[in-house]
Amino acid sequence: MLSIVDLIRKKRDGGQLTDEEIKFFIESVTTKRMQDCQIGAMLMAIWQRGMEAAEIRTLTRGMMVSGEVMRWPDGWKRLMVDKHSTGGVGDKVSLVLAPALAACGCKVPMISGRGLAHTGGTLDKLESIPGFNVQQSADQIRTILASVGCCIVGQTEMLVPADRVLYALRDATSTVDSLPLITGSIISKKGAESLSALVLDVKFGGAALYKDLQSAKQLAQLLMEAGNSLGIRTGAVLSRMDGTIGRCVGNSLEVIESLETLKGNGPDDLMELVTTLGGMLLEMTNLAPGLSEGRKQIYDAVIGGFALSKFEAMMTAQGVANQTARMLCSAHTDYYSVLRKSDHQLELKTPIDGVVVGVDGLVLAQVLQKLGAGRSKAGEPINHSVGAELLVSPGQTVQTGASWLRIHYEDPAPGPDQINLLQKALSVGKNSREAEHGCTLVAEVLQPHRDVVSN
Ligand code: URA
Repeated sequence: MLSIVDLIRKKRDGGQLTDEEIKFFIESVTTKRMQDCQIGAMLMAIWQRGMEAAEIRTLTRGMMVSGEVMRWPDGWKRLMVDKHSTGGVGDKVSLVLAPALAACGCKVPMISGRGLAHTGGTLDKLESIPGFNVQQSADQIRTILASVGCCIVGQTEMLVPADRVLYALRDATSTVDSLPLITGSIISKKGAESLSALVLDVKFGGAALYKDLQSAKQLAQLLMEAGNSLGIRTGAVLSRMDGTIGRCVGNSLEVIESLETLKGNGPDDLMELVTTLGGMLLEMTNLAPGLSEGRKQIYDAVIGGFALSKFEAMMTAQGVANQTARMLCSAHTDYYSVLRKSDHQLELKTPIDGVVVGVDGLVLAQVLQKLGAGRSKAGEPINHSVGAELLVSPGQTVQTGASWLRIHYEDPAPGPDQINLLQKALSVGKNSREAEHGCTLVAEVLQPHRDVVSN
């Protein structure tokens, strides 16, 4: 008979847990046989001692089967895809990518999260659309996938219950930033979606969790290894995250920028991420013969308006009134007849003549979070209308007094210290050589292992 105390001691002393011991740990967590203090002690032991690749594989699978594992009709199996992002500023990729993939023939049961700290959450963005319901049961998800091909939803109660317990206790015991625990948490949920292919957008840079390429790559490789071990073809993109993705940050504003992108007017950096991540998934599912063909198919789906039609259908399938969805998707619409506009806007002015080098995305996101666009604790309310629009691009020549940022705010209003922080977030150089405008976001593409036997 295994003992919980022995297991904690073994990991505390640097031992490698067996498959049987890890399964016992996860079962004890899920059935509440283990006290919270014991779970916390085990989490700290894992945080300090780490886990071998075999332990991470067993942990991930054990977490995956702690609840419902979704089942799909046989004809869909090779088409089931999703992506995961480690979180960025202005990251609205999912809103464009999910419908674009559906337009290319994939089935996309995208399970997303809410914003926390400086990063926004896809569910919060979608909830700025009146009527959009992110809470859908497994049966409703199957129905939406049959009729539309994509949905963007929150985690259901039945999916990976072990993660809910572990995540809350990781937060309370300062063990969130453990690579084995992050890997188990992310990949178990993707495994429970019974995917054929998964792409990871692992970000690095000043506004990302990982500041340098090497540490982002280490996480990407662990996530890929765990995903591939579950039979999901898993690839990754290592992408730069220093400024913002696109020009808008904040929930309603990002919905507007996503809709504009789906109407063919998207910024280049957002399109680069969408086409690369989507192209990889099309290649992994054999819907495209290679990455460049996959990228082209995604590009055509967006530019041709096919992804926009899917987004409109997804909105109505998830509770948005037909007329509202049609209005948002029609050309030259007044978005603010549907979405809430903040009561106040304020434009910040460029302090000197020069060339825009970049904007510190982390500072921008942190200020907006405090103005109500994000939350500092899970469950806090947010104000969907709060956000900011960048009015300049890296490489652009600007003159003193030109507007560079439009802040959308309500209560609280930005204070002098926050305005000061924002002004310092803009970097203006003397010449265009200093600007980052030639830089693309995608730094590296990691392809899945050739020998993965897909689900
Ligand atoms: N997202 C998750 O779901 N889990 C983590 O541990 C980190 C990000």
